[in-house]
Amino acid sequence: ADSGADAVGVLRTEFFFIDRAQPPSASEQETEYRRIAEALDGRRLTVRTLDLGGDKPIDYLPVPQEANPFLGLRGIRLSLQHPEVLQQQLTAIVRVAADYPVAAMFPMITAVSELDQALEMLDVVFDEQGGRPSHLEVGMMVEVPAVAINAAAFTPKVDFVSIGTNDLAQYALAVERGNEHVAHLADALDPGVLRLIESVVVAAGGATRVAVCGELAADLIAVPVLVGLGVDELSVNRFAVPGVKDEVRRWSQADATALAAEVITLDSAAAVRAVVAEWRGSR
Ligand code: PEP
Ligand code: MG
Repeated sequence: ADSGADAVGVLRTEFFFIDRAQPPSASEQETEYRRIAEALDGRRLTVRTLDLGGDKPIDYLPVPQEANPFLGLRGIRLSLQHPEVLQQQLTAIVRVAADYPVAAMFPMITAVSELDQALEMLDVVFDEQGGRPSHLEVGMMVEVPAVAINAAAFTPKVDFVSIGTNDLAQYALAVERGNEHVAHLADALDPGVLRLIESVVVAAGGATRVAVCGELAADLIAVPVLVGLGVDELSVNRFAVPGVKDEVRRWSQADATALAAEVITLDSAAAVRAVVAEWRGSR
């Protein structure tokens, strides 16, 4: 809030679950989420449900040895195998949403059936807690390329989607996050990734809010491209907030739209960067 942020786009709740012998109870989580919501003073708090997996194993949510943890039991896949843990988390979120603007967001959704299961669990929690809080929004992350392409199957079911460009780029470019040997291929401004983002915006059709989170949203070269593609919200680390807001204000929607239409036809991330830099230099 002190950085000028208008909302919290993703609260990574993993931090409340690691280095413990058992998961935090619904009331422990409620205390933490409530404290954050209160500090935000009316700004929306988007609480992402647990996104743990084989790359960050914890004792009480065991994951079998996997050759490719990023393609394995992670995010909503793991949570749906431990419904009692997810239900406790949703209970905490729903209780805080009774008093503050809160959004619940599901990570790593791949199949409509996973989203349906998560939404059904949320309905059970609404019944237990005396109804759906009027402040609550429900959304999902788009991190899997097939979901981005087929986004129209998902968007009518949620209030918003948030495109996780760290994972979307990892999966779309087949470049493992943090692997230095292939880092030169990891630029999320690749036109192929931009086309996936465009596909989500088109599917949302103005009816479902589209956010972008992940490091791309904090990249000043990417900012006008994302705005031009029609993204509604950028979620960035707190240090990046003032710079990103400043960059957004430098662009008219018409210019950003024209820029995005041009760069999406290019053949590489490097070419996209060069063209955006040229536009920025001429302004
Ligand atoms: C993402 O994948 O872009 C994202 C925001 O989630 P995380 O970085 O926590 O995987
Ligand atoms: Mg992710």
